[in-house]
Amino acid sequence: MTEKCDIIVVGGGHAGIEATLAAARLGKKVTLFTMNIDCIAMMSCNPAMGGPGKSNLMAETDILGGEIAKHTDEHNLQIKNLNTTKGVSSKVLRAQADKHHYRMKMREKLESFSNITIRQEIVSELILENSTIMGVKTEIFNSYFALATILATGTFLKGKVIIGDFSYSAGRQGENSAEELSNSLREHGLEVFRFQTATPPRISKNSIDFSKVEEMFGEDMPNYFSVRTKKDENLNLPTWLTHTTIETIEMVKKNLPHSPIVKGTIETHGPRHCPSIDRKVINFPEKIKHQIFLEQESLESSEIYVNGFTTSMPAFAQEEILKTIPGLEKVEIMRYGYAIEYDYVNPHQLKHSLETKVIENLFLAGQINGTSGYEEAAAQGLIAGINASKKISGQEPLILSRSNSYIGILIDDILTKKMIEPYRVLPSRSDFRLSLRQDNAWRRLLEKSREAGVLDREVLEYLSVLDKQINEEVKRIEEAFIYPTKEVNKTLENMEEVGIKKRISVADLLRRESMNYSKIEPFFEIKEFEKKEIEQIEIEVKYRHFIAKEREQIIKIKEHEAFLIPSEINYDKVNGLSNIARENLKDVKPENIEQVFNILGVSIHDINILILYIKELKKGRLI
Ligand SMILES: Cc1cc2nc3c(=O)[nH]c(=O)nc-3n(C[C@H](O)[C@H](O)[C@H](O)COP(=O)(O)OP(=O)(O)OC[C@H]3O[C@@H](n4cnc5c(N)ncnc54)[C@H](O)[C@@H]3O)c2cc1C
Repeated sequence: MTEKCDIIVVGGGHAGIEATLAAARLGKKVTLFTMNIDCIAMMSCNPAMGGPGKSNLMAETDILGGEIAKHTDEHNLQIKNLNTTKGVSSKVLRAQADKHHYRMKMREKLESFSNITIRQEIVSELILENSTIMGVKTEIFNSYFALATILATGTFLKGKVIIGDFSYSAGRQGENSAEELSNSLREHGLEVFRFQTATPPRISKNSIDFSKVEEMFGEDMPNYFSVRTKKDENLNLPTWLTHTTIETIEMVKKNLPHSPIVKGTIETHGPRHCPSIDRKVINFPEKIKHQIFLEQESLESSEIYVNGFTTSMPAFAQEEILKTIPGLEKVEIMRYGYAIEYDYVNPHQLKHSLETKVIENLFLAGQINGTSGYEEAAAQGLIAGINASKKISGQEPLILSRSNSYIGILIDDILTKKMIEPYRVLPSRSDFRLSLRQDNAWRRLLEKSREAGVLDREVLEYLSVLDKQINEEVKRIEEAFIYPTKEVNKTLENMEEVGIKKRISVADLLRRESMNYSKIEPFFEIKEFEKKEIEQIEIEVKYRHFIAKEREQIIKIKEHEAFLIPSEINYDKVNGLSNIARENLKDVKPENIEQVFNILGVSIHDINILILYIKELKKGRLI
């Protein structure tokens, strides 16, 4: 059997789906390969979407025409506003998606495209001609040909599941691994390494004593991830909070000799941002109370995800430890927690378009590039789908930069920086946190979306009109003034606002913490706008100076790139560095500040602290 299409996508996970949909929306004929059609869009770990950094990625993927944000808005059990009391750059959303609805509805979406063919076959080999990919072979000896191919194979390449001393080949629990494809990648010049990740046990809802746990809800009227979502109501099912006790910690300590991390069964690096319960007790043996969130996975099941309890300890240990947690005394485990080791490709062999440098027309996206997370995978899938389509149409690739998006940061980081663990997007990776917010993703990437060509033209035009209106209104507010007349001060007094002694701009008034757009009405003719327009007008006016200051600070710090770091520096003595920055600095031992910019996990804040410390150190030496 041989077949020809425009683009082959290997992988029906979050990267593969976005790649497939983007290419199909750009008019390409796509064949999507997956190991199990029923597991398309499966969430291997917690069915949670969003959070810091990831929310921003979702909003960016959305405006570029991706599906993840809209689909999460449609198929979730709860959406929560996070960091509501913090600064505007920290305000993000987090959703508990409905694992089964998400998966089934995504499959339906893919099947609704007449130019997408879905095949349940295991791809085993690349077909190349003169270092250009021509297609793929599958384990059942079928050959498929295409102008470009995208690999989005997740944790499936030579995947090995580990629970205590027991291990077996699997792409994730309950699914086969792909044993041959990475050999083919190696043969054709791609460097293949191994990473590891892990997941907690799932327990039966019926076995929880809800009188001992705290019920927590999301928002009744939430904001949404997608700028296109229009929904009047949203489910708001609870999650539950409990915590570890002294008995839990003692039980973990008792069982540590069985932990694959301690025994050395797992030697590969896993994500430090998501430590296992074993790792938490090893690193912080004195800490007793770790939060444990019990989260429902779907309306269609009674499985509860035990968030905060990632482990690959043996089954008996998982059970013993869980029973020490309030509310879980009679716990019934439905699926045990486990770790998985898998092959990934060195992302330094990619171009910013996500095409490989060594094989023409071969693109990689998602966990295969050493990243971790659904949102990270989806963002890369979208970019790979767009760029594979553009490449075969003879067009320039869509490249995002560090200063316009978290997607740009993600791709630049994995291409250029040393990765010692699966990569996850974090706000600290951005130099421009105030500019790269979730709420303004649709505005900052409007032009890029036009260039990408995936999003409906009508939607783009509509958003462009809103964007123009926002800019005009901000200008009008900046250029209007109020004067210290009696009436003005009386009105301010009635509003419990401090009066004015001299002329001020309406923008200055709006910048007051207690003010908002509707409150400036007595002094300024306000207009009727949509909720998202008002939000943008207010943020733009209130934060304009801070955003400018942020940019200035970066320029200042960049001037220190040639600044030498004394070789005898002791990073443990540099107060204020984040733990991850400290560890990575110790590991890499940079010689100057320019090299520090290339170390993952070191934020602009850390670099600032480091420069000040070195300056002090040098002054001290001179004395
Ligand atoms: C145990 C576990 C724990 C995790 N923990 C976390 C966590 O704590 N935090 C976090 O952010 N993320 C975690 N993840 C990762 C998260 O699930 C992934 O980052 C995300 O799903 C990656 O998306 P993807 O599209 O790259 O790959 P996946 O979602 O893994 O999808 C891969 C797809 O490729 C298909 N495939 C693979 N090889 C072939 C082949 N040769 N032929 C045909 N089809 C193929 C598979 O069938 C599947 O459809 C975890 C994953 C696992 C398995």
